[in-house]
Amino acid sequence: METSNGRRTAAPWEVTALNPERRFLLNHVGFDKTIVRAQGNWMVDADGVRYLDALAQYGALPFGHNPAFLWQSLEQIRTEEQPSFVQPLLNAGAETLAHQLVSLCPHLARVTFVNSGAEATEATIKLARARTGRRRVVTVERGFHGKTNAALCATANLRYREPFLVDQDKFTTIAFGDLVALESELAKGDVAVFIIESVQGEGGMRVQPRGYLLAAQALCRQYEVLLALDEVQTGLGRTGELFGYMHHGSVEPDIVLLAKALGGGLVSLGAVLCTNDVWTEAFGMLHSSTFANSHLTTTIGSATLSALLANDGELLREARDRGNQLREGLEKIASKYPTAIAAIHGQGLMQGVELKAWSGETSYFNSHASYQGYAVPIVAGYLLNQQRVLTAPTFNHSNVLRIQPALTISEAEVAIILRAVDTMAALIADEEFGQLFASLVPLANTAAPPPRARRVRKLQSSSLAPAVPKKKRRFAFLIHPTDDDARFGILPPAVKDLGEPARKAWLEWLSSWSGKMLDPAPVLHIANVDSPTGDSVEGWLIATALTPEQMIRMGADARAIVMERYVAEAAKLDVDIVGLGAFTSVISQGGTTVQNNGVNLTTGNSLTAISSAEALLRYAAMRSDGLDQERFAVVGAAGSVGRLVAFHLAHNGARRLRLIGNADNRRAINALKAVAGEILLHAIQNGTADDSHGLAIALRVAAKNTAQHRWQEFKQAKPADEAAYAHVYEQLLILFADAGLDECPVTITTDVTYGVSDARFVVTATSAGRSFLSCDTFMQGAVICDVARPLDVLNKMDGVRDDVLVFEGGLMRLPGNVCFGDQNVLDYPEGVNLACLSESIVLALEGAKRHYSVGNRIPYAEA
Ligand code: PLP
Repeated sequence: METSNGRRTAAPWEVTALNPERRFLLNHVGFDKTIVRAQGNWMVDADGVRYLDALAQYGALPFGHNPAFLWQSLEQIRTEEQPSFVQPLLNAGAETLAHQLVSLCPHLARVTFVNSGAEATEATIKLARARTGRRRVVTVERGFHGKTNAALCATANLRYREPFLVDQDKFTTIAFGDLVALESELAKGDVAVFIIESVQGEGGMRVQPRGYLLAAQALCRQYEVLLALDEVQTGLGRTGELFGYMHHGSVEPDIVLLAKALGGGLVSLGAVLCTNDVWTEAFGMLHSSTFANSHLTTTIGSATLSALLANDGELLREARDRGNQLREGLEKIASKYPTAIAAIHGQGLMQGVELKAWSGETSYFNSHASYQGYAVPIVAGYLLNQQRVLTAPTFNHSNVLRIQPALTISEAEVAIILRAVDTMAALIADEEFGQLFASLVPLANTAAPPPRARRVRKLQSSSLAPAVPKKKRRFAFLIHPTDDDARFGILPPAVKDLGEPARKAWLEWLSSWSGKMLDPAPVLHIANVDSPTGDSVEGWLIATALTPEQMIRMGADARAIVMERYVAEAAKLDVDIVGLGAFTSVISQGGTTVQNNGVNLTTGNSLTAISSAEALLRYAAMRSDGLDQERFAVVGAAGSVGRLVAFHLAHNGARRLRLIGNADNRRAINALKAVAGEILLHAIQNGTADDSHGLAIALRVAAKNTAQHRWQEFKQAKPADEAAYAHVYEQLLILFADAGLDECPVTITTDVTYGVSDARFVVTATSAGRSFLSCDTFMQGAVICDVARPLDVLNKMDGVRDDVLVFEGGLMRLPGNVCFGDQNVLDYPEGVNLACLSESIVLALEGAKRHYSVGNRIPYAEA
């Protein structure tokens, strides 16, 4: 973060002692509020802003904040000097609450108190293993049962488990609603317990299908497996019944898990209820916890239950009505904005709004956000900051916004929530992302300029449609913004219309965000790229928001991870060929670091190089009377693209060619010598495209003035490696001098300023990751084809050197004017795109079955 005097101050997430990662996330979606007061369903932050709480601590606040009657219970405990912790002596509060709980479900007989939901899962697994003598635990995909070790194994979210190396071999996850899968697991005879939620809270508020729980119970009984209902989130009135499973007929679980609401929103308390049959002596003798059975927490638990059941369950009835009101309202909003909302899920006062996936047609950022699961956090940020309503995502289903206020929510308060959600859905439907994203990048007093003209999207003409559609081959293309302009370009039009200073603030946000959230995502699907031959392929752009500069700074290990993930996303799409766009080809060393990852790769460097060299040669033919007098130069000639460009120029008429390398690279001179040796040897052995001019003439002179046997040595040489080619070049330098040539047709240097100073025609193709060549470097009338991304030539040529022509190389026009969304990859004009992307398309059309253009030394003949 920069202050006005340009100095960097530490960001809040860098200085917290608590949890920098969480703070980072909260900060980036506008959730970094310090709540200083909370009462009922309302909270006030340190700036005095009031928020309506439609989240209730993920359902743990049944009565909202600071319920007065529970504080009275606490006050009573204090004034009567009742004990809190008196283990191992008897504890009246725990005894009372245990009796109260089992009286709610008479088939259950024993209660074990715990301090959290995760602990309830741990105790459940111990109970079940002790009872059955079996180890395996079956749970449901997207289920959530906590994050302690065993609970984490039961929680079906790989992302939560992976870094912690939990031993998962005794845990199995089955598909949602799949009785066949359940039976096939239970029939194996080694399962202790099937743990399931009646509504998957974190799994996207998914209600178990009608009849599933009863049928699952029958299977559990048949195979003598215990059935555990995790009611941590659904329990105590949240769904409209005391327990969620009560909506499903005569289900009688062997074990019921409770937590969250049991503590009344004031204390941490959970409980595991089980039948007499499940209980074992071993569990009774050996399981314990210091803080369990606290008189204080269980007394609050008792008061909580009493309040829920008071007046013949009046509060539950109210909560059911509010649940209905909320659901009906959300359904209406969903049908009003079908382009914004995919579905409403849930039961009672635990509802989920599933967003439709955001399209990449107008913004790659949006589709990336949607795919990577931060569209909902962004939307929740809008609701909090603009509508003052607290909601959150569901954590095992990232596209669902959860709404689960306290049971005490009023009719008027539900109406406020619905109004806020309606406004949010309208903004999404109208693509008003400027307002929707306002909390990510707070911008005081930004005057919006008039909206810019939008690109009129035109896809390929129908005349190109093949008469008989063939089975589609597929490509993926890996891409990222190459500079600040391209990075700002990934944002939706409504954000870009904000102009400065929004641009600066957004670039800062994107830089910080993408540095941590670096997972790539498919951002655009192109259903048809048609060839005039009648073939057609489909493809995907897979993108991060990282720039080359960031990739260079992030270090080798992080770069390797990013590359692996890029390729993994492509593999998921079952593509025939993966094109390595922009810097992904550089950071994978021309694809070599990921060539064993199970997909066919191309750097696209062949078409990039040859098309750029061709373009420059066309200019040269137009602008010069005699190419033999002109000097050509290739900046970055030791790189994969530069090397092929040099090859092609030499092969097609360049008489005097200079190869320029990077002075900071110790290996540059040898690498340049090797490329020069390769080019010359190739021409000596195979001739050039046109033997009437250019390099061919120089070689004829050399051959004529050199002893036959000496020339033959070069005609037959087969150097084995780079060093051998470098050696050949050194020998050829002597040969050309001996033969009386004024200079070697291919020369090398690492001094770029000198190297381009007398070159009329230049291709620049470095992987510097930044622009560094200034306009005064070039000679009068120079023509420069800049192939690098980001461009090598500084963007200051306009108007300063009218005599110099710089054009972007590595671009192609695609048949049918195909566009890749509004941004068209890097904001290219309609129908124009990167040659490396075009190479991927061509290879997909041809049904590529291997890698192409991989590595630093692509055979010229293949290119
Ligand atoms: N089980 C379910 C169904 C939950 O929803 C949760 C938490 O959200 C847990 C278990 C874990 O509870 P805790 O966070 O108290 O450990």
